[in-house]
Amino acid sequence: MMIPHVMVEHSCGIIVYMEDNRKVIEQIKSSLSIVDFLEQHGHKLIKSGANRWKMLCPFHDEKTPSCIVSEAYNSYHCFGCGASGDVFTYLEEKEGLDFPGAIEMLADDLGIEYHPYDNNDDSHTSRKTLRAITELTYNAFKNQFDALSEDHPAKRNISKRNISTENKENYWLFGWSGADDRRIVKGLNSKGYTDAQIVEAGVAKMDQHGLCRMLWKDRLMFVIRDLTGKPVGFTGRIVYDNSTDPRKYVNSSDSPIFHKSNILFCEDIAKKQASKDNEVFVVEGQFDVIAMQHINKSNTVASSGTAFTENHAGMLKRMVGENGKIIFAFDADAAGQKAALRTFRNSPSIQYISFATITGEKDASDMYRDDPDSLMKQMQNIKPLYQHIIDWTAKQNDMTSETGRNAFINDCMETYETITDPVLADNYITYMSLSSGVDVNTIRAKSKGKSIQKKSSEKIIIDENDDLQPEDYMLALCYEQPHLIDKLGDVNMSGRYDLVKKLIMEKKDIPDVIMKRFIVANEGMRKFEKYSPLIDIDDLFDAQKQVIDMKNKDNSIIT
Ligand code: ZN
Repeated sequence: MMIPHVMVEHSCGIIVYMEDNRKVIEQIKSSLSIVDFLEQHGHKLIKSGANRWKMLCPFHDEKTPSCIVSEAYNSYHCFGCGASGDVFTYLEEKEGLDFPGAIEMLADDLGIEYHPYDNNDDSHTSRKTLRAITELTYNAFKNQFDALSEDHPAKRNISKRNISTENKENYWLFGWSGADDRRIVKGLNSKGYTDAQIVEAGVAKMDQHGLCRMLWKDRLMFVIRDLTGKPVGFTGRIVYDNSTDPRKYVNSSDSPIFHKSNILFCEDIAKKQASKDNEVFVVEGQFDVIAMQHINKSNTVASSGTAFTENHAGMLKRMVGENGKIIFAFDADAAGQKAALRTFRNSPSIQYISFATITGEKDASDMYRDDPDSLMKQMQNIKPLYQHIIDWTAKQNDMTSETGRNAFINDCMETYETITDPVLADNYITYMSLSSGVDVNTIRAKSKGKSIQKKSSEKIIIDENDDLQPEDYMLALCYEQPHLIDKLGDVNMSGRYDLVKKLIMEKKDIPDVIMKRFIVANEGMRKFEKYSPLIDIDDLFDAQKQVIDMKNKDNSIIT
């Protein structure tokens, strides 16, 4: 990538030569360990050799980790899907930043001086500026909140919930927007920030008279921080019944530093305990999260009134790890059931680790207010989300009649079709049978052989366009390094790869389709491991063997 030597003309007219960006990139790389970086981004890393770690791949859906992280080379490579790169690539591919944006973000996080080339173009505000505006806005909200008397409606709204604002985990969460929606804007202007920049930060909008106004008036503010703990946005909750804006919650607008579909309220707090306990709770609102923190369940997040997305699912899965639990609190009413169904159907990657606890009339914060122990008990009363969905569907139908049972099967099958995990698919059918008394085989027949398709979904042939598998890397390595072929005998490979393995061991010709895959695999490894025929080959072989063994262990449960 071309990185220009940067020259920027300052407003004062003096030409300032900026540091060569390459130096900044090197500085970032040398001061940031990829292991720390990935952990900060919610990944759970497991040691797998000297300077080597593994994790669930951030870029494809998997149950056993095949993404290897090399501390020595500060890079990652996935033997499952071929994704590979460094901290910059990660931010580009995972968080949608462009390369300069990734440099800027990391330099900013690490406190490294960086002045991006800006072409004198004012249309794009730097992330650093947007973060500064958000931080100042947060400080203003916080100061205004602290200045309120104890009997102010905003503070009463909190105290009536039995919630303390002095709790070390959450005292910093609260703010007060104030009645004057110009006050903070003026403060920001006086510090040199333009109206356009404040709007771009997602905290204000221009009114019809061209005046810049904050998005919130007389609202109790909750700050939303990213995984590294920096404020990126806000949720404002209504306090007065006669408010001119009747919406219960108003969020910051999306901005370059705040994407609602990527962020969960209190994710930075939750990640520590979630990764320790291997479970995370997903509740509805801010107060529910805070109530959970009060019963020492700080591994709790809320999606701030926006729909739960695959991005959210991926983040939570990284937090709790491969055998973790994601526990959703749903209301017992029809809306709650709809939410449960939507969550399950839209998040195939977490279906098998999703659980549900069904709250009654009260949400988590009401339960805490009335009896903290009852909230604790509620959160221990969980069942797999798929079972909850089947139970609920059974309740909706008359299971004593043939028609009712048929309707039940049809309803359940709609959800079943979204399941991609073969073990879960089997469990689902079995539980349907248990709940309805209908024989498993009858259900299978009614499902038009879908479960059977799932079971035998593995292709007999290897298609050129299939994702690279750990076996491809292993075989490609051995093909290029014949001395490793002797070790291949100990590696168990599934049907289609077993054939290729035999071809290699017998030194027979390899079909073109396979050769093409080997070339891509070897290129990937070279890029990642700086792999050359001389370096660390046995180690690489062993790392891949581990991945394949784990994968086989997983699959053996199915058959
Ligand atoms: Zn992958």
